[in-house]
Amino acid sequence: MRAMVLEQISNVAENDTPLQLRELPEPVAGEGEILVRVAACGVCHTELDEIEGRLPPPRLPVIPGHQVVGRVAATGGPDAQGLLQRSGLKPGDRVGVAWINSACGGCEFCTSGRENLCSGFGATGLDAHGGYAEYMTVRADFAHRLPDALTDVEAAPLLCAGAIGHRSLALTNLQDGQVLGLTGFGASAHLVLALARHRFPQSPKMVFARSSEERAFALELGAVWAGDTRDRSPQSCAAIIDTTPAWIPVVEALKNLQSGGRLVINAIRKESVDQSVLLELDYPEQLWREKEIKSVANVTRRDVREFLQLAAEIPLRPEVACYPLEEANRALVDLRRRHIRGAKVLVID
Ligand SMILES: [Zn+2]
Ligand SMILES: [Zn+2]
Repeated sequence: MRAMVLEQISNVAENDTPLQLRELPEPVAGEGEILVRVAACGVCHTELDEIEGRLPPPRLPVIPGHQVVGRVAATGGPDAQGLLQRSGLKPGDRVGVAWINSACGGCEFCTSGRENLCSGFGATGLDAHGGYAEYMTVRADFAHRLPDALTDVEAAPLLCAGAIGHRSLALTNLQDGQVLGLTGFGASAHLVLALARHRFPQSPKMVFARSSEERAFALELGAVWAGDTRDRSPQSCAAIIDTTPAWIPVVEALKNLQSGGRLVINAIRKESVDQSVLLELDYPEQLWREKEIKSVANVTRRDVREFLQLAAEIPLRPEVACYPLEEANRALVDLRRRHIRGAKVLVID
């Protein structure tokens, strides 16, 4: 099968072909696993973190990609029939695979609905091969049925940005009517804004973004105000979700937070370029008065499934830019340079 493979860590700014096109043997599903014929795979900022070594894969080479849409091609193990029955899946069924690839199932986190925090958490496209390929295998109980209302390319970006956006929004503890801020306005923030409009229709939404194009787009999508990352919003926010890879937006967001407000950082890794700004934190103005900072880590299967249901109800139609599998490097460079609007999706035929 064809796959785009990460063989060594490099900097995308200096190396515009960080992944290699390889012909690999088709993977074989093990016990409890299904083989998925991949149709589409979303391209996520986390892939840049893996490639550039902020989130280095434990083993190389690895096939990245954790927003996978495909169809069940086979089931593995000696009890393939039993697996089909237990999972309710059959060959040809459409499934999605998200960032959560495995969890131990027995620890205090797994048994209390917080499998995202399991110390044995395994991530798709990092700890296990992902969807930048024609085929991948996955545990049947970690594959998700997709609502018919979504096409393959529409469903793909929802599996990461959407699911984690849903989790971020839940972690804000926002009540309908309270002001919500979003700092950064990339693909995941577009989804959070649409989701917030559905779940908190009375809440004014403020968007902080560096580019004027992003600000104009935010207003189009229903923000009541859009300003620069360093601007003061007309009303202070009860909660702000940060989806940027940087630190300046975090420090600036704290200034726009109400007393008792919560800033949720939706990033698996931050880049270190502007980290020194944290030393300028002005405690009385930016953190005192019971302001909180909370990070989001991973997603649970429940987050993914709840979100897919909401996405079908709303319905959410993410704006996408499609690339053939072989052009994954171009998609990654476009993501890095913020060239193309919309979520980038690899289409595999
Ligand atoms: Zn992702
Ligand atoms: Zn666990």
